[in-house]
Amino acid sequence: MTKDTKENARENSVMEKIISLCKRRGFVFQGSEIYGGLGGTFDWGHYGLALKNNIKKAWWKKFVDGRKDMYGVDAAILMRQEVWQASGHVKGFADPMIECEKCKEKFRADQIEDKKKCSECGGKLGEVRQFNMMFQTKVGASDNSSATSYLRPETAQGMFVNFKNTVDAFHPKLPFGMAQIGKAFRNEITPRDFLFRQREFEQMEIEYFIRSEDWEKYFEYWKGEMMDWMEEIGLDMSKVHELEVPKEDRAHYSSRTVDFEFDYPFGKKELFGLAYRTDFDLKNHKLDYIDEPADAEAMAGKGKSTKIVPHVVEPTFGVDRAVLALILSVYAEDKKDGETRPFLKFKPSIAPVICAVSPLLKNKPELVEYANTKVYAPLKAEFGRVAWDDNGNIGKRYRRQDEIGTPFCVVVDFDTLTDNAVTVRDRDTGEQERIKVADLGKYIKEKIL
Ligand code: ATP
Repeated sequence: MTKDTKENARENSVMEKIISLCKRRGFVFQGSEIYGGLGGTFDWGHYGLALKNNIKKAWWKKFVDGRKDMYGVDAAILMRQEVWQASGHVKGFADPMIECEKCKEKFRADQIEDKKKCSECGGKLGEVRQFNMMFQTKVGASDNSSATSYLRPETAQGMFVNFKNTVDAFHPKLPFGMAQIGKAFRNEITPRDFLFRQREFEQMEIEYFIRSEDWEKYFEYWKGEMMDWMEEIGLDMSKVHELEVPKEDRAHYSSRTVDFEFDYPFGKKELFGLAYRTDFDLKNHKLDYIDEPADAEAMAGKGKSTKIVPHVVEPTFGVDRAVLALILSVYAEDKKDGETRPFLKFKPSIAPVICAVSPLLKNKPELVEYANTKVYAPLKAEFGRVAWDDNGNIGKRYRRQDEIGTPFCVVVDFDTLTDNAVTVRDRDTGEQERIKVADLGKYIKEKIL
């Protein structure tokens, strides 16, 4: 094997290990798996969903609940086709596609080196044509063209079409933002790389409305905010890189885009993006805003109201790519007695399970009773993200919890029955502490912060 091939094999094997761990431990499954799978779709299991929810909660906490100037929205996925005509997606949301004349395999033309010969069968490749990635559907019982609708390819338009509603309801002063978390759909030509490129995925997006002259200032500001959040959830920041996207690669609405790329095992690729959408969307939806003078100026009788079309800086985050990059950031292996043991070293604040509770032996009713009623039940009621684990011996339980990424394992043993203390084992150091049952809640709360 050459150095490159060895490196590729190692990188592929990391992805294989992660995909297999995600399935084995109930994080992520192939969509429609029992019928052979539906390309570009995934179903989330209990722990993957918990992780995804924690990521979304951390985002909402920082960018919506933690700010005075942000308004949440949850718009319908189906929207009138005029939305997508005005936004330019009907005309321009397309990827270049190339098809093999022999085996009919389809490729993204911008992602293959040899645009003449098929990499699958060696057949001749046809002409490049533009393929619109929006999923089309019909709304209502009629099948005339006015019933055509699309599954949204970005959540952003749900915010633009509610711009006026938000202004009328809350009277926000510039700058202010709208934020949304929700599903987006793209009929990707070649979905691939596990959660990286799917046909159905989730986005967390902000449209931040500003005066046009302020765009550079807020572009820099949001770059910093995005980086802070990535660090906060525990992404390996040495793998995150900024890319100034050249004009020819930018989306049709963007005058400047910076991508945050991540070193995935399959290459350095986009994780999140930041775009300066100018007044493109509001203008196309024929929306405007009455910009009033600041309070102090108004009181002094200075300044006057002007009708403007605000400009927009858009920080956008893919939930699924966040999950994948986070798992890749925290994945670690430990070799012991000739055996490789995988860990997911999630921060306690983001881990799908904060702690697992075990009776030392599951055939001792007094231990099970104590563990269940005095430890598990109160912790579960307080934190929710608590697992009961009495399967196999303690070593096996620790290993299972390490794979799930559980930071703490709490064990109830015979001493507990007399000293009302439990053993708490730390995932990362393997160290064990004796903690009073009465102090457990406080102990865990401090770790989550
Ligand atoms: P790419 O160039 O990789 O196709 P994009 O530039 O088209 O991505 P955006 O339109 O900026 O992506 O979408 C915003 C975010 O949504 C991306 O930064 C990414 O995190 C996520 N995203 C986009 N497409 C997909 C997809 N097919 N599967 C999973 N996440 C996606």
